[in-house]
Amino acid sequence: MKSDLSATLPAITEKGTLTPVAVSFGDGIGPEIMKAVMTVLVKSGARLEYLPVEVGESVYKQGFTSGIAPEAWQAIRNAKVFLKAPITTPQGGGYKSLNVTVRKTLGLYANVRPCVAYAPYVQTSHPNMDIVVIRENEEDLYAGIEHRQTDEVYQCLKLITRPGCQRICRYAFEYARAHGRRKVTCMTKDNIMKLTDGLFHKVFDEIGAEYPELEKEHRIIDIGMARVANGPEAFDVIVTPNLYGDILSDVAAEIAGSVGLAPSCNIGEECAMFEAIHGSAPDIAGLDQANPSGLLLAAVMMLVHVGQPDVATLIHNAWLRTIEDGIHTQDIFNVDSSTRLVGTQEFARAVCERLGLEPQRFKPAAYVNNAAQPPIHASGTHLPEKKELVGIDVFVQWDEGTQELAQRLQAAQTEGLHLQMITNRGVKVWPEGFPETFLTDHWRCRFISDPPNEVSKDELLGLMANVLRADLDFIKAETLCLFNGQPGFSLGQGQ
Ligand code: NAD
Repeated sequence: MKSDLSATLPAITEKGTLTPVAVSFGDGIGPEIMKAVMTVLVKSGARLEYLPVEVGESVYKQGFTSGIAPEAWQAIRNAKVFLKAPITTPQGGGYKSLNVTVRKTLGLYANVRPCVAYAPYVQTSHPNMDIVVIRENEEDLYAGIEHRQTDEVYQCLKLITRPGCQRICRYAFEYARAHGRRKVTCMTKDNIMKLTDGLFHKVFDEIGAEYPELEKEHRIIDIGMARVANGPEAFDVIVTPNLYGDILSDVAAEIAGSVGLAPSCNIGEECAMFEAIHGSAPDIAGLDQANPSGLLLAAVMMLVHVGQPDVATLIHNAWLRTIEDGIHTQDIFNVDSSTRLVGTQEFARAVCERLGLEPQRFKPAAYVNNAAQPPIHASGTHLPEKKELVGIDVFVQWDEGTQELAQRLQAAQTEGLHLQMITNRGVKVWPEGFPETFLTDHWRCRFISDPPNEVSKDELLGLMANVLRADLDFIKAETLCLFNGQPGFSLGQGQ
C-alpha cells in the first residue's frame, strides 16, 4: 500500500546491499517527523531500502478495525523491520489498538524504552537519569480475556507463562550485557500475586544466576515505581510484566524531560517495530513544531538492530551535539540553555550538519556490532512436573445468605470431595466469616480432598452434577492441582 508521502522516500540505488525496512508515515505530526527522520537517515548513508506501508486513521476509516490492511501485514512480514510514525486511533467503539494488534500478531515480546535525561540542555529534576525499561509485551492482563460473570462482577484473566518470563528476563540480561549496563532490577507484586508474579520473580532469579557480572535486585512494584519517580538515578535496566511496565515506562519517560525525546522498540523472534513513545499530537500537527527526536532515536535503535552500529553511532552523536549546541524545538526550548528555536525540518538539517561530530559534554555514543542482540527463543525445556488433581473451585452466582449457600453446597459433597471454604471477592466468609465483610453476588466454593489425595475426573463430574442439581447458578470452575506435591493454587483468602 503506497502513501502519497512515499515520494519523499529515497530512491533505491544499490538494491541487494540494503536492509529492507517497512516505513509508515502515520497521522497528525507523523508525516512531518518521519520526513525529518528520512532526511537524516539518507544524509547519514544508512544502508536501508524503505518500503512504504499505510496504517492508521485512513485505514481504520476504510473499515479495517485494527488500522492495518492485509497488504501492509505482508510488507511488514517481508521486511521484518518496521519504522512506524505515531497514528491517531479514531474515537468510538469497534476500533482495536493497532499497536497491541501488531505486537501480539508478530510476537513482539519485548518492549524496550530507554529514558535518559539530557540536562542541562533539557530541563528535568533528575539530571543523571539513564534507565531502560524492558516490559513484557504479550501476556499478563493484556491477553484480552474478559468476562462478565454475574450482575455485579466482571473478570479479566491475568496469564503469566514460564516461557514468556524466561524470554523477557533473558532478553533483559542480554540487553544489559550488550549495552554495558551494571544492574537489572525486576519489579513485580509477588507479595500479593504469589503464583503469577511469583513465577516472574522466580524465573528472573533463575536466569540472573547465569549473569554473575551483573547486579540483580527485586522490588515490589509499588515502592519500586515510587522510587523511580523520586530517584531514578538508583536504577539501570528494569524488567517487568506487561501492565506494570506500561505504566512505569510512561512515568520514566515523563520525568526524564520531554515526551518528544523518548524512543521505543518492540522486539520479536522474527520481526521488530521501532517508534517514538508519543502519539500523533493533533494539537500541533502541520505546524512544523514537533520534535522529531523520539522517532530519530528509535531509528538509531533500529540501525543497531539491523547491524549498522556505525551509522547508529554517527546519527546519535550528531543528535547529541545538536542538543548541546542549543538548537531546540519548541517543546524543549528554554532561554537558559537554548540558542536557537527551530522547526521540525530545520532541526533535522541541524543534525545533518553535525554528522561526523561528537558531543562535547555528553558521553559520545559508540555502538558496537554485538549491541544487536540475537533473538531470544521461547524455550520449552522445562521438565513436566507430576500433576495431581485434588479438588475444584466452583464459582456460583448467589444472592441470598452465606449459611444457606453453605448448606446447599454441603449437600453436593461427594465421598472424596468436601466443602473446605467459601470466599466472596477472595475473602473467606465460611466457615467463620465476619458480619462486616461486604458481600457481592459472586462466590468461590472450594471442594478439596482432605488430606490432599488424587481424585478422579469422574468424581469431579459427580460433584458438578450435584451442584447443578442443587439448583445453584454455576459460573465456572477451576481445577485444583498439586505440581510435584506443591499446590498450584492460592491457599485461601486474598493474601
Ligand atoms: P500525544 O503524545 O500525541 O500528545 C501529548 C502532548 O505531547 C501534546 O500536547 C502534544 O503536543 C505533545 N507532544 C507529543 N509528541 C510531541 C513531539 N514530538 N514534539 C512536541 N510535542 C509533542 O498524546 P495524546 O494527545 O493523548 O494522543 C493523540 C493521539 O495519538 C491519539 O489518537 C492517541 O490514540 C494516539 N497515540 C498513538 C500512539 C502511537 O501511535 N504509538 C501512542 C500514543 C497515542
